[in-house]
Amino acid sequence: MKKIAIMGSTGSIGTQALDIVRENAELQVVGLGAGKNIKLLEEQVREFCPSLVTVREKEDAEELHVRLADRNVRILWGMDGLIELAAMPESELFLTAIVGMIGIRPTLAAIEAGKDIALSNKETLVTAGHLIMPLARKKGVRILPVDSEHSAIYQCLQGTVKKTDGTYPVSRIWLTASGGPFLGKTTEELKNVTVRDALKHPNWDMGVKVTIDSASLVNKGLEVMEARWLFDVPIDRITVIVQPKSIIHSMVEFEDGAVIAQMGVPDMHLPIQYALLYGKRVPNTYEPLDFTKIGEIVIKNPDTETFRGLPLAIRSAKTGGSMPTVFNAANEAAVRLFAGGKISFLEIYDIIESAMDAHTVLSEPSLDEILGAEAWTHDFVQSRMIR
Ligand code: NDP
Repeated sequence: MKKIAIMGSTGSIGTQALDIVRENAELQVVGLGAGKNIKLLEEQVREFCPSLVTVREKEDAEELHVRLADRNVRILWGMDGLIELAAMPESELFLTAIVGMIGIRPTLAAIEAGKDIALSNKETLVTAGHLIMPLARKKGVRILPVDSEHSAIYQCLQGTVKKTDGTYPVSRIWLTASGGPFLGKTTEELKNVTVRDALKHPNWDMGVKVTIDSASLVNKGLEVMEARWLFDVPIDRITVIVQPKSIIHSMVEFEDGAVIAQMGVPDMHLPIQYALLYGKRVPNTYEPLDFTKIGEIVIKNPDTETFRGLPLAIRSAKTGGSMPTVFNAANEAAVRLFAGGKISFLEIYDIIESAMDAHTVLSEPSLDEILGAEAWTHDFVQSRMIR
């Protein structure tokens, strides 16, 4: 029995992970964490019987206490609750399915406690990869990617003999992007797009923030940085290509010239299952890929002049230090403003760029310095909005 704790169980990844648990008797949920959706969390507790749950606010924890008075479950709240969830003695695997940098401290706590990580919360690696990866190596825990592209790369690398220096003989990672709902649009056409337009992803059904990030190509930039940490490949050897139907989830080119791709229908259940089962291949009920129905597979280069999220991400990655934190935090703030109708879609890029331009980079930032850079960025974005 593999015992798992899930941070973000009521979200898009969290609920799909619970679908996988329903279908696999070898998985058992021992802890759940959510934000505000206590109705769904209550249903999850009744179905999966975890021994610990945690929510964002104290009032919701109190409400949950009343609702679950007939259940033997510890109910916590806030960051302390997430950290206890991450390190709970009963669990072996911690699924990080929360959005944003709030995932950093629980992820570090889980690794410290020796838990393997099924990593979905990419913002954590983007901003604190230099802390997370060495700690994972030191503690001997596995970081199992959940993001479909990173799961694809991870799958392509299985069975590869490493070089004597311990690295993979990889000459290039071909990271695929769907291009999102605005693929092919010009800057002029993007001026008046709405939140509703940005949320109409052609292939993937995901949470709000990652869907908007996909529309801006910021998500692909975050994924380049995530890949760099996960697979120890320099940024210059990670190339983004657009494959609009999201059938090729990514490809690895090896030093002998061979290219291996992982393909499948765009459905997050498979990469989540692969991570939760540590790469074990088991049958499931999800739709398989039917090559007789695909037709042609189109591949294009991304339009980095219009979709500035990607080049800004690459710039932040190459600068390194605290700059990826500023890139990410400025994007988190800007997406919130866009989703709230306060700024236009294209202003997301302006906000990110101005925060990056104004930031004095710290090299090898500590956790406190990362959180300080995040706070600085939020203050910067707020002051820009007041002006
Ligand atoms: P969602 O917005 O759908 O879900 C976020 C989850 O986090 C919800 O369960 C939410 O709870 C919970 N949450 C929010 N704030 C807190 C808090 N303070 N404490 C505890 N829980 C909290 O996000 P996604 O599932 O889409 O994305 C999760 C991560 O996975 C992101 O980093 C994303 O980039 C990545 N990812 C997602 C993919 C997808 O298909 N969705 C694909 C690849 C990567 P509640 O709803 O109860 O408020």
